[in-house]
Amino acid sequence: MKSAEPLANDHYRDELSNVDKKGKRLWIFPKKPKGKFYDYRTWFSWLLMGLMFAGPFMKLNDRPLLLLNVLERKFIIFGMVFWPQDLNLFALLMLSFILFIILFTILFGRVWCGWACPQTVFMEMLFRKIEFMIDGDYQQQKKLADSEWNTNKIIKRFSKHTLFWILSFVIANTFLGYIIGIDELKLLAFDGPQAHWGKFASLLIFTTVFYFVFAKLRELVCIFICPYGRLQGLMLDKNSMVVAYDFVRGEPRGKIKKEETQVKGDCIDCKLCVHVCPTGIDIRNGTQLECINCTACIDACDEVMVKIEKPKGLVRFASVNNIEKGTKLGLNLRNGAYGVVLLALLSVFFYLMATRQLVETTLLRTPGMLFQKQADGTISNLYSIEFVNKTFEELPVELKLIEPKGTIKFIDGSDIVVHKESVGKSSFFLSVDPKEIKQISSPVIIEVWSNGKLIEEMKSKFNGPVYSNSQEKLGDKDANEATEETKK
Ligand code: SF4
Ligand code: SF4
Repeated sequence: MKSAEPLANDHYRDELSNVDKKGKRLWIFPKKPKGKFYDYRTWFSWLLMGLMFAGPFMKLNDRPLLLLNVLERKFIIFGMVFWPQDLNLFALLMLSFILFIILFTILFGRVWCGWACPQTVFMEMLFRKIEFMIDGDYQQQKKLADSEWNTNKIIKRFSKHTLFWILSFVIANTFLGYIIGIDELKLLAFDGPQAHWGKFASLLIFTTVFYFVFAKLRELVCIFICPYGRLQGLMLDKNSMVVAYDFVRGEPRGKIKKEETQVKGDCIDCKLCVHVCPTGIDIRNGTQLECINCTACIDACDEVMVKIEKPKGLVRFASVNNIEKGTKLGLNLRNGAYGVVLLALLSVFFYLMATRQLVETTLLRTPGMLFQKQADGTISNLYSIEFVNKTFEELPVELKLIEPKGTIKFIDGSDIVVHKESVGKSSFFLSVDPKEIKQISSPVIIEVWSNGKLIEEMKSKFNGPVYSNSQEKLGDKDANEATEETKK
């Protein structure tokens, strides 16, 4: 009878495939992959790379499709502008995205890493392909790495790393395009570095980082640096679909020998699945942190199965329960609960998006001041007002005083026009006849109008002295005395 145990011991969990016993990094030379899944992945990657490189040029209603300007704290996602004032919406969107990733991982494992993560897409579909093209397949690469320096090695190394630098430069430009926007990037290209030293320095730093990541770090990013890979152990369960070795069918593994009578599993221990792995692991040891679900081992093993005339799928997308008990992928309570929470978050997000204000106003009484007595006998309070115009049009703004009875006079005396995508600030005096003041702190209601439309109703407080018949008329005192009286 075949063993249901994948391995007799778990020693592989104590050591890393790319580190030797002394802790020195072992360079991984993966075999050139080929097969059905690799073809699908190549087409999908071209589509993703096309979108990624075209992204900074794509606009919706004259706005970038995606802009993550952390310097000016302005974010545009699918043409929707998020300002610092929209932090709640942005946080909700990020929370939904994280939950979506968790749900997706529970159901389909780390398939994002192998198929859609920019790190893997660029590494496997651009940098690795250049390496195969210049240095050859894994055995030739090993030979070249071990060989003495000669003209051939210098030419190969020089051409490979020059291409790596050029690609890193292109990726860095794209990355910067998502941060500062394509128009700023064009200015850098047309005006030259001398006119934009800061941006040019950022471009060089990004290029160096990308070169270092793709030429040197490689799989270390997925294994040590990316938090998502390290967290996957928390998200997966026995029903998660992952790239898995069917140990029920494959064990006991071993080469088929003619006179052998012992019944063996379908795995002939050819190790092709190990040779193609870009993170250097043996999928037959079970689900491991290093596995990015790239499916290269599925293609490699399927090719072997065809040759030895066994059914494909010894390594395939499967859950542990699917391998052990034949259970099919389905919804369980945990997946359902995550789905409901995700749906609720998205509903709240879209509701808030649909009802959010495109112009936001903040009204504040100037701190540290109580009231002033004006030359015409009125009592005034000083206010500062701030407008955030999230639209892409200039907005003339008008204030209408609803309560109390009085007048509004702007300090700079000008009409307020808030420029598109910007913040406008102003200050004004609200003056009230002393006879209208019935309490020390009275409510203030001001409507903000623009182009004949009510935008917002603002509320604040008005401070002033209160008269009574028995009191001396405060109008005879100077403003300072009045202030002191009110304080008392
Ligand atoms: S084990 Fe297979 S799926 Fe996982 S990283 Fe290696 S080749 Fe890719
Ligand atoms: S490629 Fe398939 S047959 Fe070969 S070692 Fe891997 S699992 Fe076994």
